[in-house]
Amino acid sequence: MRLLLIGPPGAGKGTQAVRLATHLSIRHISTGDLFREEIARGTELGRNADRHIRAGLLVPDEVTVGVIRERLARPDTEPGFLLDGFPRNPAQAAELDGILARTGSGLDAVLHLEVPDAEVISRIAGRRLCREDPGHIFHVDHDPPEVAGTCAFCGGELYQRDDDREATVRRRLEVYRGETAPVLDHYRGQGLVTTVSALGQVQEVLDRALTAIGRAGSTPRTP
Ligand code: AMP
Repeated sequence: MRLLLIGPPGAGKGTQAVRLATHLSIRHISTGDLFREEIARGTELGRNADRHIRAGLLVPDEVTVGVIRERLARPDTEPGFLLDGFPRNPAQAAELDGILARTGSGLDAVLHLEVPDAEVISRIAGRRLCREDPGHIFHVDHDPPEVAGTCAFCGGELYQRDDDREATVRRRLEVYRGETAPVLDHYRGQGLVTTVSALGQVQEVLDRALTAIGRAGSTPRTP
């Protein structure tokens, strides 16, 4: 299955993406995670991406599309993939259509997670990530780990991403409204978009999402 996950910052995309990908036995590909890996490795691409990310801006399309083209060419995406954070604007969506058309494949669905702005701000300001695994995500109020500052899954140190600070979040919301929301129109035109509310418990949202893509009740498997 080839899926896109689209929603504003703070919709719980990362949390849901990890669970959906595990449930569907497909690769979770997050451009944000790919950039953070490059930044951690200190590559030139990482340094370039870091300047934009810290400012709450999008990384330039030619960089981002290159990263995704290379990632989708790897054989582990053949059974399918879930793209999280890409495409972020209509130009990237058109590039993705081209990449997939060249391999003779297409998308099965675009899952749109919907959440009000006020909820976004409160969610992101309290979000904490594990340094060992970006899929291990907590919230200081709504989903605190047993030991403050320590990942409940692996014991890693929890931290706040620079781009999760409030001023940056507001900027990211503007970017989402101006650049990413039109991506939904691009895919609505292809009849692929299904919208689910991202409010409620993680499991509730996951169940809604699986129902929306017609995979409710399928057997969980590990990738
Ligand atoms: P995320 O983890 O998806 O919130 O991504 C973190 C940051 O990486 C974003 O705020 C952008 O600066 C950058 N980024 C991630 N995906 C893209 C993309 N598809 N196009 C441009 N920039 C991106």
